[in-house]
Amino acid sequence: MFTRRGFLQSVAASAALPALYGQTNEWGSPVFDLHHHPRQQAAASIAHQDGAGVTKANLLGASLAQFKAVEALAPGRFIWFARADITKPEAVATLTQAVKDGTQGFGELKHHVAADGPELTRMYDLAAELNVPILVHFQEVDHMENEGKWASGYATSFEKVVKAHPKTKFIAHADAFWANVSADYHNETAYPSGPIKKGGISDKLLSDYANFYGDCSANSGNNALSRDPEFTKDFLVRHQNKLMFGSDCSCSDGHGGGISQANNPAAARLSGKCVARSTLGVLKGATTPAIFKKIAWDNAHKLLKIPA
Ligand SMILES: [Zn+2]
Ligand SMILES: [Zn+2]
Repeated sequence: MFTRRGFLQSVAASAALPALYGQTNEWGSPVFDLHHHPRQQAAASIAHQDGAGVTKANLLGASLAQFKAVEALAPGRFIWFARADITKPEAVATLTQAVKDGTQGFGELKHHVAADGPELTRMYDLAAELNVPILVHFQEVDHMENEGKWASGYATSFEKVVKAHPKTKFIAHADAFWANVSADYHNETAYPSGPIKKGGISDKLLSDYANFYGDCSANSGNNALSRDPEFTKDFLVRHQNKLMFGSDCSCSDGHGGGISQANNPAAARLSGKCVARSTLGVLKGATTPAIFKKIAWDNAHKLLKIPA
């Protein structure tokens, strides 16, 4: 709960922050969180940014009303991505209207459909037509019993999708994208651990396709970037222009309060931690300040054409 006093302090502190763009904060660089889902109260989004040392964030899976609510409290500290039920025909109209209303991308699109199926293919085409990126959640392994797959078939089908849609800017996110950084992954577990075998499909897609990007958010990104430090060092150098920091953190205060990974039992390694803080720490420890700044700030600004 927010007290009125705490709320006003948070608004006052937030309103001052955009002036600090380009200056250093506790991370040594301004930080853009590509993956922040709206909270029930708009002020809670700002509290998470302030607590984690995040300068600006993408309100993901938002409505125009949700964006307006955070924008009113903290002008200039958010952009937004829109979502729709892509299994319904009206999704095209909904997302087209969202672009007219100023959304800067689609996502995250998280649906029980095939990654190369007709529902998502329609969205890949629409994203190209309207010139906005599309962020997709790929997952093959259940976190909870009977959860089901999301955008299934990534490892075997997605290269052909990326190749067939050169004008679509794909942002890949979640378990299947990150686990397939390793060439020896076969859906054994949601979050594999231990050394990474070079030549994974995700590494290849990032290298070979100018229109394919990676979102570092959630336990999936944090786990993959933590499991093999030697691999990560080179991976970040290789894809320094393609990776973007995101948190997907649901903690309350930017310090791990409340629940950070939305009750996902498979992500217990991050319980009690802020995913944003943890992943920023992993990135900072694994690379140079110049590459850190690209991943934490510059790449998202370029892709989303946000004036920095
Ligand atoms: Zn997701
Ligand atoms: Zn957090």
